[in-house]
Amino acid sequence: MSLRRYRQKRNFSASPEPQGSSRGPGSAKNLLTFVVQKHRATQLHYDFRLEWNDVLLSWAVPKGPSTDPSVKRLAMQVEDHPKEYAAFEGVIPEGEYGGGTVMVWDRGTWRPESADIEAAFRKGDLKFTLNGKKLRGSWVLVRTRGYGSRSGRSWLLIKHRDRFASTEDITSKLPRSVLSKRLLAEIARDEGGNTAKAETGDPQPSTRSRPAVKRK
Ligand code: MN
Repeated sequence: MSLRRYRQKRNFSASPEPQGSSRGPGSAKNLLTFVVQKHRATQLHYDFRLEWNDVLLSWAVPKGPSTDPSVKRLAMQVEDHPKEYAAFEGVIPEGEYGGGTVMVWDRGTWRPESADIEAAFRKGDLKFTLNGKKLRGSWVLVRTRGYGSRSGRSWLLIKHRDRFASTEDITSKLPRSVLSKRLLAEIARDEGGNTAKAETGDPQPSTRSRPAVKRK
């Protein structure tokens, strides 16, 4: 686990993303951070990140997490990110790696459900509990068979059955940043990004909750 691939992919003179310190101070109180970043890049996806060994283990989840235990969401493992990335919300310039708008969609702490996390990770069966603002309770990441370039990097993110399970569509029900309450388009507008592109990742007007307006 290192930040070599993370740094290779990025030009820090062009992108506001954090470069990451080589060795940061240990986490306070042994609490491990998790973050889910909604990212309107070439494709909309959600980046699911778990702090471990001084980095953020990272997966790109195209459809985002589902709180419905019957729904399995593909999660492609990507390069480890620096811990500071958990606070990153803003705009990566177009043309740079991952160019587009990034929102901190959820953030909190996580706890492994197995004593040996390294073994669980290697085995491809990582059970954990999330304590976020949107995502809570027990979850699992299971490595699955991938094909070609996806081989070895494909996982499934699945909610376990507990009192936090729900069939509600949490990504469309709770579309705003937990840091700033902004939608993607509002982040893009504030930070000089592509507002029209970012807006395609926000709930569309037909599904966005609005005050009821009577039409004649
Ligand atoms: Mn991403």
